[in-house]
Amino acid sequence: MGKRKISILGSTGSIGENTLRVIRRHLDEMQVWALTAHRNQERLLAQAQEFGPVFLGVSGADEISRQFARQLPQGTRAEAGAGALIEACKGADLVVLAVVGMAGLPAFEYCLRNGIAVAFATKEALVCGGRLARDLMDENKAPVLPVDSELSAIFQCLQGERREELETIWLTASGGPFRTASRQQIEQASVADALQHPNWSMGAKITVDCASMVNKGLEVMETRWLFDVPAGKIRVAVHPQSIIHSMVEFKDRAILAQLGSPDMKIPIAYALRYPHREPCGVQPLDLFSCGALTFEQPDPARFPCLQLAYRAIERDDYLQLVFNSANEVAVDLFLREKITFPGIYALIAAAMERFDGICIRRFDDIYAADGEIRAWCAENVPRSVLK
Ligand code: MG
Repeated sequence: MGKRKISILGSTGSIGENTLRVIRRHLDEMQVWALTAHRNQERLLAQAQEFGPVFLGVSGADEISRQFARQLPQGTRAEAGAGALIEACKGADLVVLAVVGMAGLPAFEYCLRNGIAVAFATKEALVCGGRLARDLMDENKAPVLPVDSELSAIFQCLQGERREELETIWLTASGGPFRTASRQQIEQASVADALQHPNWSMGAKITVDCASMVNKGLEVMETRWLFDVPAGKIRVAVHPQSIIHSMVEFKDRAILAQLGSPDMKIPIAYALRYPHREPCGVQPLDLFSCGALTFEQPDPARFPCLQLAYRAIERDDYLQLVFNSANEVAVDLFLREKITFPGIYALIAAAMERFDGICIRRFDDIYAADGEIRAWCAENVPRSVLK
């Protein structure tokens, strides 16, 4: 049998880099088939020199520059533009989906339709794909292995268990940089404040999502579709130590939890080597020095986006798509210092009101609606949150 061909979409991000660290330990069985980056061409070329993939994609550029083309290793072809993400999936045995945002949905759809296994880290793709993505997963039996630490924890806790005996999924949340901040401090938060994550080092978009707890809202939606569990069975517990990555409670009231160092290599290696477990270069968790494990209820007054997320999925329609598209626009505006931090909530809430009753029947409707929601959001930022 040949080596397993692995494509990494978003290879220069933190999930991508950690995936390559895991693959380095398994080069006898795994081959890097394709790599894509949004913009970081320098790092992408360095990865290509090391791993010699057959394809490189630069999704955030319009074309491949001559200079870039000159530095390609022999036998590697390159393409620019959003279509490069799908191109990178072709011929792969497993695709690590680790791009930022809804941009990952077309590649996810492609993998589901073609039965290509996915190591899944782009939660927005499942949030926006919703019921349609779930149905494709059921029809084509394409394995979708979660990489997100919480989703991986749930996946691990569910191994060998009966789905009908599940009572509650407990998603843990670190609480982000504003866990102990006052409402007033959160309202005045700067970009630098929002980018200080206490436990994980990640890209800017997801770090802001952690600060607003939108990230946890997206994970509630991701959990809802990945495990096909109604939202009413999914609860969030703030657990600042990030030692328990999530828990599953069963009918007999037994709760299973997955613990470990906050290191993404554990869930990545599990997704890549499932169902096997092997050393992946992670320091053991020292139980005697990690201190007390505590749990808090999320505070709806300081983190209203989480409740908004629950409202977006309570009817199982596509309000979740509105939530996500509006958030992507809002986070971009916030990072460019055009709106205040509470502006993120304000814009999502306004968009959910405007697009209430949105109708989605096919994947094409998702892409069309996403464009429409983004355009509306760009034009309708509430005045009170403009900077
Ligand atoms: Mg997570």
